[in-house]
Order: sequence, then structure tokens, then C-alpha cells
Amino acid sequence: MFGKNLQIVSERLDKARLSSPLAASAVFLVAASKNQGPERLKEALNAGISHFGENRVQEAESKWPGLLKSHPGLHLHLIGPLQTNKVREAVSLFHVIETLDRPALADALAKEIRKQGRSPELFVQVNTGEEPQKAGVVPEKADAFIYYCKGLALPIVGLMCVPPADQPSAPHFSLLREIAQRHGLTHLSMGMSNDFETAIRMGATQVRIGTALFGERKSEGL
Ligand SMILES: *Cc1c(COP(=O)(O)O)cnc(C)c1O
Repeated sequence: MFGKNLQIVSERLDKARLSSPLAASAVFLVAASKNQGPERLKEALNAGISHFGENRVQEAESKWPGLLKSHPGLHLHLIGPLQTNKVREAVSLFHVIETLDRPALADALAKEIRKQGRSPELFVQVNTGEEPQKAGVVPEKADAFIYYCKGLALPIVGLMCVPPADQPSAPHFSLLREIAQRHGLTHLSMGMSNDFETAIRMGATQVRIGTALFGERKSEGL
């Protein structure tokens, strides 16, 4: 089933990429694997997926260390909120952290990266819809926050957003792209199962897809 879903998603992805002048020349897929257990992960690995997104540090620690050893080319992305007390584990496990959104977290990451002598690539998460319950820096504070991170010499490579569920996504993607361009950031992590084609048409360089690949999420007892 995963293989078939992947084929459908890949075809839709390519079609969207070729249909817009704003689209990036290459877009890669991050399989959002939260709540997926070992069987599903194996299916995805066998189908050739090499980027995975996890939402919780603890869940990722219980699922990935062994697989990372047996599959050296894998990239693990943190796509859920990061608490400062989990920074040590996050820096040692993830290749990409997409949810940097506040000065205290930037400070903690800078300190831990120096300590471990190893750094994941970092994305700043922007709360484009200014939703109070959602993580991310609000747009009017994004410029100052990005300067702050660069001042700490953090390896910021791009921006990430999750638009409000009840609004069209396009204006949010377009805002994210504008902020990224102002700062010369070339990576845009935007688009999920229900809006990835729109995201690609607006310049996403990576999309985070769960349901369209794995089917509806149900826990395998994790
Ligand atoms: C779960 C999740 C996704 C994937 O969502 P789907 O709608 O299942 O594709 C993408 N991004 C984040 C941050 C998520 O938490």
C-alpha cells in the first residue's frame, strides 16, 4: 500500500512542480511518520524514502537509533515543537530541526551545538496565521528573530510553516516565501497531505506528508 501511495504522491508532486514558474527545480518528500510503528517504517524504507519527519523527540528516540545505523543515508527531521530540556537529545539525533521559533531555544541550540561539535540544519518556523495555540514566530517578529539566530552563527537554511486548517494555504505559503527571500534563505518546508500541490506551486523545496503516504494515522501501540 505504501508503494502505491508513494507512486500517486510522486506523480502529483511532479505535475505540480512542472505547472508553475515559481516551483523549485527539485522538491523532496519528508514522510511524516509520527505514530507509525516499525512495520510501516520498514515499508517506507523499502520504498526508498530517505527523509522522515517526527513530531516528538522521545518518540523518535524510541524508533530511530537502530534504523539510522542500518540505513546510513537517512535524514531525520524534527517537525514538532522542541522544548529546551530536550535540546541535547534533539541535536544528537536529528539531521534537521524545522521548528526553531524563539530566542531561548536559539540560545540553547547554539550552546548545545558548540558542546557536541555537531549541528543539524535549522529552519525557523513562522506562525503565518498568528494562531495562539500554534508554535512559530509571528511574521512581524520573524525578521528580528532570524537576525538574532544568525548573530548566534546558527546554521539557518530555511523557513517552515503550518497554515491554519480553516483557511486557504496559498497566502501563507506566499508570505513564508517572501520572508525567506528577504533573508536569502533558499529552503522552504511547506505543504502537507491536503495542500502540498499548492505549496509546490508557490516554491516549496520540501513537503511533509503523512496521511497521503501512510493512510489515516493510528497508533501501533507506541
Ligand atoms: C503530521 C504533520 C504533517 C503531515 O500531515 P498530513 O496531513 O498527515 O500529511 C506535516 N507537518 C507537521 C508539522 C505535522 O505535524
